[in-house]
Amino acid sequence: MTKERGNWLDTAHPETRAIRSGVKRTPEGEHSEPIFTTSSFVFESAEDAAAKFMGQDGANVYSRYTNPTVRMLEQRLAALEQADAAVATASGMAAILSVCMAFLQAGDRVVCSRDVFGSTTGLFQNYMSKFGVDVCFVPLTDFEAWEREVTSSTKLVFCESPSNPLCEVADLKRLADLTHRVGAKFVVDNCFCTPALQTPLALGADIIIHSATKYLDGQGRVLGGAAVGSAQDMAAVTAFVRTCGPAMSPFNAWVVLKGLETLFLRMEAHSHNAQKLAEWLVSNPQVLKVHYAGLADHQGHSLASMQQSHYGGVLSFEIKGGRDAAWRFINATELMSLTANLGDVRTTIVHPATTTHGRLSDQQRSEAGIAEGLIRIAVGLEHIDDLRKDCDRGFDAL
Ligand SMILES: *Cc1c(COP(=O)(O)O)cnc(C)c1O
Repeated sequence: MTKERGNWLDTAHPETRAIRSGVKRTPEGEHSEPIFTTSSFVFESAEDAAAKFMGQDGANVYSRYTNPTVRMLEQRLAALEQADAAVATASGMAAILSVCMAFLQAGDRVVCSRDVFGSTTGLFQNYMSKFGVDVCFVPLTDFEAWEREVTSSTKLVFCESPSNPLCEVADLKRLADLTHRVGAKFVVDNCFCTPALQTPLALGADIIIHSATKYLDGQGRVLGGAAVGSAQDMAAVTAFVRTCGPAMSPFNAWVVLKGLETLFLRMEAHSHNAQKLAEWLVSNPQVLKVHYAGLADHQGHSLASMQQSHYGGVLSFEIKGGRDAAWRFINATELMSLTANLGDVRTTIVHPATTTHGRLSDQQRSEAGIAEGLIRIAVGLEHIDDLRKDCDRGFDAL
């Protein structure tokens, strides 16, 4: 296979890398990336097989180990996060699991921000704990709590920033420094921002997690995930994925490769639409509060302005009248899809208290600030006027 000519990519802008990095062409000369739908690879000779099984550089043996389409995606993601390497996985959760399995053992401690993705909480609480890993959750922006809980037995410190659905923002540099004081690894789930808006490795994070299911694909077509980081750390993650099998399919890798080509355009457009919608919602008398880091009075605004190039596509807002009003609002909308998914060109709307955060106790929900009147919108790329009109249907139903 032939690489793109020259080494101009090494100094190219991220927008260019999102389109060009990782491309390898076969002698057929195809312009777009090919999908290698094969489970295994054949060898020239017994000698060739022996060399490749012993790990000859870049050789393909079996698609649970490596696959050329999946590798193109891994190289492109690594280039975007300014990392040595990436490991693609079957889903975002498979990426988090693989990092846990690579770096944790009985007696270790994980400190995780409280408002992470529900299945992430479940993975730590219900499964890692089964194997003797001590797990502790702290409020994302309570730095004193992090300082208290990140002890010498801590091996992983995990957070999402901005958080879901309240858009709280972590001080990534400060958390990275705290984590490194005890020799642990700082893992950031960068799903909401993507490398188009935020590159946490540059702020001191060690490992980035992605649910490629969300903005990296961007059009709601496939499941996928990735871990990104140093060559050494990713070798440990690769060893787990190869042995235990949560590998990404070549077709899904190809879909995500296509998605990445428009990542920068989409993330800016998502952010612009979300900013306009947030500013419009603020002025509505039925709205008690809008949570979006792009608003100057949001608690995380100044940090987000330093860490991110835009504020992203997800916002939430609390309306008067609690659950009853929130449900009436949601049921009256017509354009927005009623689904918990996000990171899609199609706008989605959801009632966190009874869906994504429905399994929490009333007390846990109130501690997490998930009010009964809270509505989350993952703003898509439809015209802003149509989105406002759809929200007006909701407001008219109150
Ligand atoms: C969706 C999501 C995940 C899990 O990703 P899957 O691809 O669904 O496994 C992890 N983290 C965040 C922030 C997510 O939104």
